[in-house]
This record gives sequence, C-alpha cells and structure tokens, in this order.
Amino acid sequence: MRLSAEWKLIFQTICLAFLSPGRCVNPAVLKSGLGRKAAKDTEAHRAFLLAFGCPAVEELLARKVRAAQISSIARLTPFTILANLVNAAVVTPVFSSFLPVSYLAVWLAIVVALMVHTSVKWIRANRNPIETASRRGLRKVVLHATILSSLWACVPIVAFAIGDPNGILVASCVTTGMICGGGFALATVPQAAFRWVAILFVASVVSLTLGGDAHTWPLLLLLTSYVVVIVGSSTAAGWLFASHFLAEAELEQRGELIALLLNEFEEKASDWIWETDSFGNFRNVSDRFLHASGRTRRELQALRMVDLAHTLESDDARGAIPRLEKAVGLRKSFREIVIGVDVRGEARWWSLAARPFYDDHGSFGGYRGVASDITEARRANALVSHLAEHDSLTGIGNRSWFLSQAERLLAEQKTLETKSLTLFLVDLDNFKVVNDTCGHPAGDDLLKQVAGRFTTISEGRALLARFGGDEFAALGLFDSDAAAEAYAEELVSITRRPFRVGNRDFAIGATVGFIRLCTSGDTVDDLMRKADIALYKAKESGRGRALAFETDMEREVRERRELESDLREAYENGKFSVEFQPIVDARSGKVVSSEVLVRWVHPERGEVPPDTFIPVAEQAGLILPLGKWVLQRACAAAAQCPELESVAVNLSPVQFLDPNLVPQLQSVLEETGFPPERLVLEITEGVVLRDFGSASEKLQKMRDLGICIALDDFGTGYSSLSYLRHYKFDKIKIDKSFVDEIGERSDGLAIISAVISLAHNLGLEVTAEGVERKFQADALRTLGCDTMQGYFFGKPNPNPAEIMHVRTEGWHDAKADEAPRNASALKNVS
Ligand code: C2E
Ligand code: CA
Ligand code: CA
Repeated sequence: MRLSAEWKLIFQTICLAFLSPGRCVNPAVLKSGLGRKAAKDTEAHRAFLLAFGCPAVEELLARKVRAAQISSIARLTPFTILANLVNAAVVTPVFSSFLPVSYLAVWLAIVVALMVHTSVKWIRANRNPIETASRRGLRKVVLHATILSSLWACVPIVAFAIGDPNGILVASCVTTGMICGGGFALATVPQAAFRWVAILFVASVVSLTLGGDAHTWPLLLLLTSYVVVIVGSSTAAGWLFASHFLAEAELEQRGELIALLLNEFEEKASDWIWETDSFGNFRNVSDRFLHASGRTRRELQALRMVDLAHTLESDDARGAIPRLEKAVGLRKSFREIVIGVDVRGEARWWSLAARPFYDDHGSFGGYRGVASDITEARRANALVSHLAEHDSLTGIGNRSWFLSQAERLLAEQKTLETKSLTLFLVDLDNFKVVNDTCGHPAGDDLLKQVAGRFTTISEGRALLARFGGDEFAALGLFDSDAAAEAYAEELVSITRRPFRVGNRDFAIGATVGFIRLCTSGDTVDDLMRKADIALYKAKESGRGRALAFETDMEREVRERRELESDLREAYENGKFSVEFQPIVDARSGKVVSSEVLVRWVHPERGEVPPDTFIPVAEQAGLILPLGKWVLQRACAAAAQCPELESVAVNLSPVQFLDPNLVPQLQSVLEETGFPPERLVLEITEGVVLRDFGSASEKLQKMRDLGICIALDDFGTGYSSLSYLRHYKFDKIKIDKSFVDEIGERSDGLAIISAVISLAHNLGLEVTAEGVERKFQADALRTLGCDTMQGYFFGKPNPNPAEIMHVRTEGWHDAKADEAPRNASALKNVS
C-alpha cells in the first residue's frame, strides 16, 4: 500500500510529536506536500500541521495559534490543579503503608510545588493574557506535561513493585484517570498530550510487567485501546482547534480589510455610510455623516432619515418623502431616493440607497445604507437645464422652451372655453442698424433692455421668449380680440420710447404679428406659421405696427412665396433683361440721358412689373445680386453710347444699406470702363428715412467717386424738402403724380414751380417724370425744369441705340387734342 504525500506528512508529524515534540518536518517537504492539493484540502493540512506546532502558515498567525492553544489549556488550570491535589491526597495515605515517608514527602512536595508554580503562572496569565507565543512557549508546555506525567508515572511503578493490593488498586485507578483526564485536558496541544499519554502508558506497561500477573496481557490490551482513543481524540481536537482558529483569523483579516476600505471610503468620497436601529433612528453615526448633516451626534441619533428629509421646505425635496416612507414601511431595499436636507440653513441634496438587515433570530434590525451628497451635481444640472430653456443673453425663455410651453397651453386650451390662446411674434425694426453702427456689445445691451421692457408689460399676461437675433415671441391667454390687440400694441409702443445705449439714444420700434386660436384643429406649428404671416404682412405694410392674422393673408403670402421662388429661378436662369427710357433736355429736346429699368417676363404670368417683383426681391435678399447685374448691364450698354451724357440706375434702399456698396460700384465701373461722372444713381426717400448717421457719409463717398445722386420720386414721401438741405444730392426727380396734376388741379403748377425754384436755389438739377402729354412738357419747360422723362418722349426700349431718336416733332406747338382739362391753370405759366 502506498501512502499519499499528505498522509505521509501527517504520519511523520504524529511520530515526531511523540518522539521529539517541538521539532518540525522539513519546510521543503511541507511545501511540496501541500502544494499540489486543492485550496480547501491544503487549508485542512495546514491546520493539522499548525496544531503540531509546524510553521505551516506565516509566523505571526502561527504565533497567534500557539498562544490560543496554550490559553485553552490554561483555562482548565484550576480543574487540573484540583485533580492533581485530590489524586495526591488519595495516593499519600494509601502509599504511606508501604513506602518510606521521606520518599513520599519528597514526591508530594514536588507535586505541590509544581501546582503552586502552575497556579502562579495561571494568575499572571489571567492578568496579562498572551496574544502570541513562540515555539519555545509550546515546548515549555510539553516540558511541564513531561515533568508532571513523570511524577505520576512513579505511582504505578512503585505500587506494582513494592505496594500492597490496596496500593495497586489505587495506583491503577489513578493512572487510568490521569491518562484519560490529562490526555483530554492537553488535547489542544497534541504534542503535550502525546508526551503525557506516552509517559504514563510506558509506566503502566513497566508496572504490569513488574506485577507479572495472569491478567497482564488483557490489561495491556485494554490500556492500549484507551491510549489509541486518547491519541486519536487529542489529534482530532488539536486539528479542529487549529482549523477554527485559521478560519477565524481569515475572517478577522477580511473584516480588517473591509474596515480599512470603508475608512478610506468614509474619508475620501463624498459618500458616507449610515445605519439605523429597528425604529429608524440613526446609530453608529460616522464623523462624515455628522459633518454632512451639520448636527451633533446626539441630535442625529434622535432623528430618522425621514425627519431629516422634512427639514427642507421645498416641493422638490418633499416629492421623494412618500417613496422613502413607503420603502421603510415595507422594509424594502431602496436606491436613488433623493431627499433635500437643511444643513445649517443651506439646502443640500442627498441620494440614498439602503437595505434592511436582520439579526440572527431573523428579526428586523434596521437599515444600513450609503448617502451621497449630490448638491453640486444637482446645481450643475439645474444650470444646464436653465441654459437649455433660457436665452443666455436676456434671461427670458428660448425658442424650444417657448414651443414646449405653447404645446402645454394648447393642450390645456381644449378644456378652457373663456380665454383664447394667443401667440405673438415680435420683430425689432431697426435693430440691425444699432448692431452695425455701434457694434455687437451695444446691440446686446439693447436686446437686454428690450427684454426688460417686454417683461414689465407681460407679467401675469404672457410668457416671453427670444428666438434669436431681434426676434421675440409671447404667448398668453386673452379674453377678447381687443385685449390681445391692446397687448400687441403695447409691445410695439414700448419699443418706440428711445433706448439709451452707451451715450446715444436709439429709436428702434417693433412690428408684431399675432394669432388668436380660433380653429380647434390648429397645432402649435399652425399658430407659429399664421403669426409669422401676420408679422410678414405687418412688416410689408410699413413696420412699426401690430397686425392680427386674417385668413386672406395666407393666400397672399403663399402667392408671394411662389413669386419669390420663381424670381430666384429666373435670376439663376438669366431671365431678366433691362430697358432704357430716354431723358431729354427740356430746352433742346435732345436725349441726354436714359433711365435703366429692369424687366421680367414670367412664363405664365407674362410681364411682371418691377413694382411687383422688386419688393419681393428686396425681401428675399435677391435685390443685391440683381441690382449689381442691372448696374453692370447699364454701364456696359451706356459705354457703347457716347452720345448719352449719362445713364441713370435705380438703387434700392436694401442695396444702399449694403456695406459693400461703394467697393462694388467701384469694381463695376472699373470692369466696364464706364466713367463714374456719367453714372446717375436714383435713390428714394426710403434710404434717408432709414438713416442712422451713415447715409450721408455713404452718399458723400459715392459723390467722391464722381457719381451723380438723384432723389427719385420726389414729393411722394413725407418731408422731402428738409432732406434736400441735409443730404447732398445732385438732382431731384419730380414724381409723376405731380406732373399728372398739371392742368388738373389749380395749385398743381404752383407746387411744381416752388419745387423747381427751391431745387435750383440749392444748386440741384430737376427732372420731371411721367410726362405723357405735350402741354405737360411745355409747362415744365416754361417753369424751368431741366430734363424730362415720360412716354411722350419715349417708352422704355430694350435697345439703347434706338432711344436716341425720340419724337421731337411739334416740340414747340401744343396740339388741340392734347389740351389740358383745366386750361386756365396753364394761363399763369405762359
Ligand atoms: P421709377 O424709378 O419711378 O421708374 C419710372 C417708372 O415710371 C417706370 O416704371 C417707367 O416705365 C414708368 N414711366 C416712365 N414714363 C412714364 C409715363 O409717361 N407714364 C407712365 N404711366 N409711366 C411711366 P417701371 O419700369 O414699371 O418701374 C417701376 C419702378 O420699379 C421704378 O420706378 C423703380 O422704382 C422700380 N425699378 C425699375 N427698375 C428697377 C431697377 O433696376 N432697380 C430698382 N431698384 N428698382 C427698379
Ligand atoms: Ca427711377
Ligand atoms: Ca421715379
């Protein structure tokens, strides 16, 4: 039969324990013997070897095991001393009959001395319990067992050698009891137990042999069986003891590690551990928890988590309390419950997670959990959501927030009957100018002021938002159309009051388009679209006003949008052309100039008049490229007609506001080689009306280039005469409506006469437009008008060369059929 390496090791250890306790198996053999086994088996073998004092584990642990082995024997000291003294007390009188008293006294004295020594050591050990023990300590125990067992070994030997039957009986009983009692008492230190049993067993065998009785062999057999049982039991007990100790040590080690980690966690993280008793009151409160709660340990231990959650007066904070109460009531685990706590007057937010725990009897012990202070994260979140919903510049709502509010109100509107949801879109009128002239910081400042004014009038009436740029929106419930309109008017009027930006005042104004929900089927998108249409119409009809949406507008706007897209297409496909209309000298009747007019023939609509498509092109931003194109064509064509003193090109206010206008003019003139002195730019009052200081500068720049500037449609606007003094023009063009009044109204001529003389006084040349009849031409010439333009001289013509030959026949005599209806009005002239 072959023994496995482990069993060999065990056998070896037991043998060594008998023969030479304290000595160990070779460590290399130990290693190889334990190395190949599974962890669990290895653990058992380790415990076995440890029980026999072998260093199968690290020294510190081995020392602890030895100390525990020794302590467990020491715990029985009072009983062992008592047993020894009782045995000695029984043996002494019986042995005194056959043993000399002096021998007996010496034996007894040694036993008693040993007991005294043992008790003294026991008392000391009780005062200072040992925690570790060296191998020497273990050897001392073995020595102690050797001495005491040797003393008791004398008893059977003496009795069987020289004693009487009485003595033999007592000795047999004492020895048997000693073998068993001692073996068990020393079981936790198998080496000591083995030594004890071995000595007494040998003494018994010697005694029986000395006695030479017939019962010797059966008695020997009996004794041997006892000894085997004792040796086996003590081995097992020692082994078990060491195993238990090892397991405990490991648990303790793990506990220490966990405590260490928890310490780390408590000290470093923003989280802490909390624990309650079965009533929910905090207990084992950590320093971190104390610090986080801002309360004393006493205060905290009198509170429950729910009580803490109640300390913060906030709807947000209160929201989680029912969840917490429910979980605790049902003794359920919970996580991510966020409560608000008042900590020294400051609102702090804790995220809680916990699970209930139960004691060994299964009854509820309380909660253990983790709390994290998430205040900062919450603040950051709040900031992010504020930014997501608000306009960062003005602090009022942003577009996405506005739309979500509109959705919400619209859903509620279905149940509200009396008030009607109204959506307003607001566009500032002259904001761009502030931005362009004073820079973006000034523009930002202005927008903030506008938002501030809007907020004052909207409180309790409407929600406000900025959509970006100079676009604002409002949303509210209004009782009647009149109430909604009054609010819209207020939005407009409040922007009319000047705004102070830097050290300048700006009058900007606003245009509002709004829609009151009337069709229940309308969505937010529909409302937005309709308010946008109303705003579009309001802008178109002159800005600075509020306009409610009307159903007709939708069709108009649709048509306009269609026109816009057709216009774009036409431009991209080069479908525009220009015509030249002659301008004649009033005295000589010679063509001296020509106005260039753009033409567009729509594939379906036919010829679309520029009065219709120019405003659309202006709005669509198409006027800039189109205007440039007209200018190029005009200059190029006029360059081919040296007879023309000049060529006049219309300049839209939108073109005029373009910051690139002057460089663009220069480049066109250079490209076409057309002299700037021959170019006339016709601008309308619109240009100067929108002036914020830069128009006159720009006009001057153009004049510096050599270009002539004519004020077109003179007389159709407001205070035209004052412009003539403020701005430097070269020419004015009297509008056709004045010319039409010649011979129609009695004061028609007087007005024209006054305008002409005023212009001449200011050094301006005068052109009359829309001259259709001879008497008009005659009258204008008589009044001193410089040049004339109109169907009478020639309609716009695509070929510039052809306009040179205008109708001049009968230039000096009026025809009867062309006489004015009010002929008397002309009398003064002639
Ligand atoms: P406007 O600058 O006042 O141009 C004169 C308009 O009067 C032209 O109309 C011309 O055809 C018309 N007209 C000239 N003589 C007579 C006449 O004896 N009787 C009548 N009934 N009409 C006469 P048109 O070409 O339809 O242009 C209308 C307006 O469109 C122009 O008014 C001008 O403001 C604008 N426009 C035309 N071409 C351009 C252009 O290239 N650029 C810009 N920005 N505007 C343009
Ligand atoms: Ca014109
Ligand atoms: Ca005109």
